[in-house]
Amino acid sequence: MKFPIAVIMALLVGVVAMPSPAGADSLQQKIMAAKVVDLTHPMYDEMPFWPGGVPFKKTRLVDYDQGYQLHKFEMGENTGTHVDAPSHFIEGNRPIDEIPLGDLIVPAVVIDVQDKVADNPDYQLSADDVRAWEADHGTIPAGSLVILNSGWHKRFGEPARYINMDADGVMHFPGYGKDAGELLVARNVVGIGIDTLSIDHGPSKDFATHVVVLKANKYQIENMANLDALPPTGATVVIGVLPVKEGSQAQARIYALLP
Ligand SMILES: [Zn+2]
Repeated sequence: MKFPIAVIMALLVGVVAMPSPAGADSLQQKIMAAKVVDLTHPMYDEMPFWPGGVPFKKTRLVDYDQGYQLHKFEMGENTGTHVDAPSHFIEGNRPIDEIPLGDLIVPAVVIDVQDKVADNPDYQLSADDVRAWEADHGTIPAGSLVILNSGWHKRFGEPARYINMDADGVMHFPGYGKDAGELLVARNVVGIGIDTLSIDHGPSKDFATHVVVLKANKYQIENMANLDALPPTGATVVIGVLPVKEGSQAQARIYALLP
């Protein structure tokens, strides 16, 4: 490869960047310059899981004394940070491997209800809450992912407080109310996410918001982490969900690029 003398001289004295192909600057440099936040909880045997579900379990199959290390791990589809496919509740709707890639790299809208949850662990986001957020930040754009920051992600390391089950076996944690789900479907978001075990709040028996959102072929993300790092708008979220054929849910590595 030959460089013009002027470029070589400039590189030697360190005053210019290498020339790059037209167009490479914009996307690659923007990504390299962005702050990246991990919205995924790490996966380990003691992590919380849906009561009655399948916990994460990692087993060592081969160790270094045999030359290398190999584990297997097992868990339910809904253990840890994961995506619910529309087919989770609605027969015939999209399974996890058929969510289009274009729906998995999207702008994020973040609604923070930590002050309300402080007074009521069963708090449900309402359509009025969504409209109040829109009064401050503008109408939620079609094609965005709405994320509810309830503050619950801070309890993930304490399973009993995260599941928060009372003596009658009823769980207590916040969620999306059905009317909020209906309004967000009307806004044509790609999906909704939360930092608890379920989109519907802990005491729910009918999972009404699951039904509304999944029926509309939108997806859901549960057990999200680190939501305090996100601004109300401006982040781009990348959802690396496992493409399990005909899966109803699957784990995902999820991260946000901040402007
Ligand atoms: Zn779910």
